[in-house]
Amino acid sequence: MQIGIPRESLPGETRVAAIPETVKKFISGKHTVVVEQGAGLSAHYPDAAYVAAGASIGNTAQALGADLVLKVRTPNDSERAHMKPDSVLIGMLDPFDQAGLAALAAAGLTAFALEAAPRITRAQSMDVLSSQANLAGYKAVLLAANQYGRLFPMMMTAAGTLKAARVVVLGTGVAGLQAIATAKRLGAVVEASDVRPAAREQIESLGAKFIDVPFETDEEREIAQGVGGYARPMPAAWMARQAILVSERCKQADIVISTALIPGRPAPTLITEETVQAMKPGSVIVDLAVERGGNCPLSEKDKIVNKHGVSLIGYSNLPAMVATDASALYARNILDFMKLIANANGELLIPQDDEIVTACLMCTGGKVLRSA
Ligand code: NAD
Repeated sequence: MQIGIPRESLPGETRVAAIPETVKKFISGKHTVVVEQGAGLSAHYPDAAYVAAGASIGNTAQALGADLVLKVRTPNDSERAHMKPDSVLIGMLDPFDQAGLAALAAAGLTAFALEAAPRITRAQSMDVLSSQANLAGYKAVLLAANQYGRLFPMMMTAAGTLKAARVVVLGTGVAGLQAIATAKRLGAVVEASDVRPAAREQIESLGAKFIDVPFETDEEREIAQGVGGYARPMPAAWMARQAILVSERCKQADIVISTALIPGRPAPTLITEETVQAMKPGSVIVDLAVERGGNCPLSEKDKIVNKHGVSLIGYSNLPAMVATDASALYARNILDFMKLIANANGELLIPQDDEIVTACLMCTGGKVLRSA
């Protein structure tokens, strides 16, 4: 099959969906590959490296006009216009965006959204949410450290002792756990909160303190278990108790990294304006949930703002700030997914009985099949 790797057109998107290493594997798998000129440049993969791996370099229309198109972001109107009906698209296509999926279906595409893969062991090597969130959690801590006017580790110097930074992590999925690990490596004292009871052990195993919001009813305990590893909206009474504790911990903190999300819903508000007002001057909040409204109502998308003496970092695409590694992991996720839908002769075979494939298949034959 002919595989196309277009250059991403969304502003600020520096990642690319295939790297020379994965292109080489596609070619040994009997595919041909056309890479749009400059597609990998912002992630530091030059055209010459793709050519050395066996790809040809083409223009936008050639890359998007391939039988199988690999993208990072869902194609916009002008990109879709270049795509052939009945061609196959693999990318992060936002499974909750019904209008976006309808547009892909109307273009006649067979589209796979990798974010919709189930969080099961067999799907781990193609889990784009994990591969990208892991890097986002790491980068969030570095951004905070850079913005913060003090150091992270405790330091004893001839001129006096510097105290270790206190970091609070809200939401300990993939990004939050990596944020804990990164902050610990830098020498901070870390506390963290999550709704899912399973998170406690993971937080403690990284050497952080669990902010315990006890359950008062069986209903609270049951909802907190989540579904398929994902959180569900907690009852108002639990959220109110969590808000008091989180507010207390944030007031003591120097850095807050917030990552709390519930699939398909606006991000829960965990850091109120009153809490920000009560935080120490010079504190830093990195709101990784900003794309979905933010865990703090004061954070602004793709900006650093200062409110009440606190810096709020609202960058929405942290993986794009580490584009070389983010592209490498994403490209390997796609390569592994491709093994499920292509045979050894480079032909497309879409198995109807593979739960990963069927979960990711968003549309085919002009119809939207499912949303996540
Ligand atoms: P996510 O990005 O959907 O959410 C981030 C975190 O926010 C979650 O841990 C969630 O519980 C938490 N959260 C929601 N509301 C909150 C609140 N009010 N207060 C505090 N925290 C709140 O999460 P994710 O990183 O995509 O991970 C989702 C799940 O998938 C986790 O259970 C994770 O362990 C699991 N997972 C499984 C695999 C696997 O292959 N088995 C791989 C990766 C992740």
